[in-house]
Amino acid sequence: MAPQIKYTKIFVDNEWVDSKSGKTFETYNPHDGSVIAKVAEGDKVDIDVAVRAAHRAFHRNSEWRLMDASERGRILQKFADLVERDAKYLAELESFNNGTVLSFSHSMIAMVLPVIRYIGSLSDKIQGDTVPADGEVFSYTLKQPVGVCGLILPWNAPIAMFINKVTSALAAGCTVVVKPAEQTPLTALALAALLAEAGVPKGVVNVVPGFGKTAGAALTHHPDVAKISFTGSVVVGKEIQQAAGVNNLKRITLELGGKSPLIIMNDADLTVAVPYAALGVFTMQGQVCIAASRLYVQSDIYDKFVEAAVKHARSIKIGNPADPTTQHGPQVDETMMKKVLGYIEKGKLEGAKLMTGGKRVGHEGYYIEPTVFADVKDDMTIAKEEIFGPVQSILKFDTLEEVLERANSTSYGLSAGIFTTNLNTALQFTKHVEAGTVWVNNYLKIDPHVPFGGFKDSGLGREYGLYCLDPYLEVKTVIVALSKKL
Ligand code: NAP
Ligand code: MG
Repeated sequence: MAPQIKYTKIFVDNEWVDSKSGKTFETYNPHDGSVIAKVAEGDKVDIDVAVRAAHRAFHRNSEWRLMDASERGRILQKFADLVERDAKYLAELESFNNGTVLSFSHSMIAMVLPVIRYIGSLSDKIQGDTVPADGEVFSYTLKQPVGVCGLILPWNAPIAMFINKVTSALAAGCTVVVKPAEQTPLTALALAALLAEAGVPKGVVNVVPGFGKTAGAALTHHPDVAKISFTGSVVVGKEIQQAAGVNNLKRITLELGGKSPLIIMNDADLTVAVPYAALGVFTMQGQVCIAASRLYVQSDIYDKFVEAAVKHARSIKIGNPADPTTQHGPQVDETMMKKVLGYIEKGKLEGAKLMTGGKRVGHEGYYIEPTVFADVKDDMTIAKEEIFGPVQSILKFDTLEEVLERANSTSYGLSAGIFTTNLNTALQFTKHVEAGTVWVNNYLKIDPHVPFGGFKDSGLGREYGLYCLDPYLEVKTVIVALSKKL
């Protein structure tokens, strides 16, 4: 049964309002392309209203600014409890709106609960230093919230992205205006309602559904927005970096995807490596920034590995994401489906060997078969560009030195992985590969305790980890002159 859709309006000052223009846009179920709701379409004027609300809530005398840091932490813990209470509903709504298979949506909720609790627990651990400055002075630093934050979300993991960015900003004491992706506005609105229920004062969290070119751009250009945190494509990330400097100097955090290399050495345990390699690229139909989309397999085991990888890909159960036994659902929309099918055609045209998959499934919804290409070469389009679809590209290599060089020959640097039973090989790889996260004998593990972010064009700054609040804080230095008279 379809989950009930409770919220479709703009959320400002803890209230639900229509867009000023009265316009709405349709949101879909990727399983069959059917319209599931009409959502208020926010534009520049609605962003202005939301930023004003967030700005009021950030005033030095506001309830939020005067609140004890430990109370902010308690509100976030309450929020975690409410997400846990509504876990089933949120998982179903996420699947319904973006096609993530239900079993994975449940795992995602299980993953975000510790994220909220960990980040929430940092609220009252924001500490400055006392500094031994020269002279008769007492000098110390304060860390203070940066201000109103614009949080621009992608569609591929809407709940996780909302929670990661919003809880970090709130734990730091900031206020936020969230612009969810046009394809997936529904869970962001449901989570905003839970934050209000948890006790977040009005104006602290505002959500404006709408489009990037209008609502998104209004946020990145707004002079009263102090910071933007964005996850999405490199193209838009670069636009945001420029927009952030036009009307004021916004702080920015960018997480922009990748073309992550996964290396399988001759000595790897294939019973572990084959399923991990598949998980690394087929999870969420390949719509993950850390997808292992360049799979380098060492020559001695190459043929055996390709055979096992094909067998694995063929065993994946495709179907309606709402069915709890489904392992592989649809791409998020028709545009993405066509884009991915276009990459598959390019792969064939440029001489990669299609081993399995490669086609759309049925005529309804946006399903693509798990696809495996062998004999992929570094200069082929499918080995260079982020596909964001279920396409495993297998490349052959001979030595560690060679594969390191090839793995690093990309403008991306989000993540990397290696499967080997040789400690020296593993440590040499982790030392030299250019990536923000490196997995050894596992892949795709994200954990709130460890920092996450990219080298090179994969991003700017880090999320998660002990210092995840720093991008939402300013450091203030205080120097007090001491009198010599005692
Ligand atoms: P995108 O265009 O980068 O969109 C991400 C978010 O930015 C959406 O909320 C989008 O609004 C908004 N946006 C777009 N243009 C903007 C602008 N000029 N100013 C401010 N905000 C703007 O990503 P996409 O089009 O959805 O997906 C395209 C490709 O991006 C994918 O194929 C994939 O390669 C990559 N991607 C990466 C990640 C990741 O995790 N790093 C996530 C999603 C996509 P709209 O909703 O109107 O688009
Ligand atoms: Mg888009």
